[in-house]
Amino acid sequence: MPTPRVIYQPRPGSPIDVDRVFYGRLGQETETRNQIEQFVVPIRSGRAWPVLAGQICRIVVVEGAQVADFNAWNLNNPRERFWAARTKQLHRAHVTTFDRLWSCLPYLRPMLTITADTVDYPLDEDGAGCHDLLGTRCDPYVHKMLNGEEFDYCCHSNLVRAVAPYHLDESDVHDVLNIFQVTGLTTDDRYFVKPSPARQGDYFEFFAEIDLLCAISTCPQGDLSVQAWGQDADDPIDTCHPLGVEIYQPHPGLMEGWQSPPTSDYRGIHGLDRP
Ligand SMILES: [Zn+2]
Repeated sequence: MPTPRVIYQPRPGSPIDVDRVFYGRLGQETETRNQIEQFVVPIRSGRAWPVLAGQICRIVVVEGAQVADFNAWNLNNPRERFWAARTKQLHRAHVTTFDRLWSCLPYLRPMLTITADTVDYPLDEDGAGCHDLLGTRCDPYVHKMLNGEEFDYCCHSNLVRAVAPYHLDESDVHDVLNIFQVTGLTTDDRYFVKPSPARQGDYFEFFAEIDLLCAISTCPQGDLSVQAWGQDADDPIDTCHPLGVEIYQPHPGLMEGWQSPPTSDYRGIHGLDRP
């Protein structure tokens, strides 16, 4: 049997390999930053908010373990949005500090860089990791198919309500990063989850590389410790908790040399004949 081969291999200096000194300082030197905003997202709800290029945003476990389904768009052009599948290939299926979230084609640039992750959950004995890109958001269509029930507070719907004030709709909601969610593949290749290991005070933090519109849903399945679909389905509402969001402006001295990344310089001809 051939040995596994990582397919997307960066060359030295590639934007996939970030400057760990630079981003490490941004994540660690917290006493020099200014907090700009702070709010709490209640259980089974969604909220969207801008994070400007050069700002830092933190998703905080304010009470107990809770999964956040995260979406991101270019604040000035919502067609440019987070591309979960390619991010998984460029970095890994469970992202952490120094990984980046990439935008879709034809833009393809880092939208944000993760600067801190206090959960610290290395791949476990089942091959499971935290902050999941293997799966996507829960949605009311699959929920109805599996449980026969109308439910309006799945992550997909929470994100739809969250972005409505920004004149975005259901078609703008896209595949998510599941923050604080532990997932893997079973030995027979099926998607599985484990209860979130996040504890009060844990946070997941990122540096905005471009002006962003971010959104999270506080998943109605809470910490994912209760089976929500199938024969043994139960209502996980007792495992649901709010999440905090904090936005910071880092000290300008920490950002010296940083520039907001441009979109891809592929000329976009695709081999088409053009008159
Ligand atoms: Zn969900």
